[in-house]
Amino acid sequence: MLEKIDHLGVAVKSIEQALEFYRDTLGIEPTGIEEVPSQKVRVAFLPVGDSNIELLESTTDDGPIARHIEKRGEGIAHLAFRVNDIESAMADLKEKGVRLLSDTPLPGAHGAKIVFIHPKAANGILIELCERND
Ligand code: ZN
Repeated sequence: MLEKIDHLGVAVKSIEQALEFYRDTLGIEPTGIEEVPSQKVRVAFLPVGDSNIELLESTTDDGPIARHIEKRGEGIAHLAFRVNDIESAMADLKEKGVRLLSDTPLPGAHGAKIVFIHPKAANGILIELCERND
């Protein structure tokens, strides 16, 4: 079901400020910055080998990333696994009694289809499943 760790989502107050470390110090060039309205965020993808760091900056005061920063500060927000068929992965998890945060896949960055698994199922980690074609 899972193909690889697609990315690690990092909640930041400002993508521009975070790039001073990730791009200027570590030397990871972002592949682009885009807005993801379904999650009320702007995201920057920074490829590292076969995976990515996803910097997440909230576009509103009440979005999931704004709430994450309010409660826990900046830091790791979620772990994302790449799947080849998100609908069948969701059906499989539902059958196993795993709680998902939405009933249908949501549009993610880079044309992905995404869904989140409730952190209670995964020892406190918010897990994202994402299906995309690049
Ligand atoms: Zn993500």
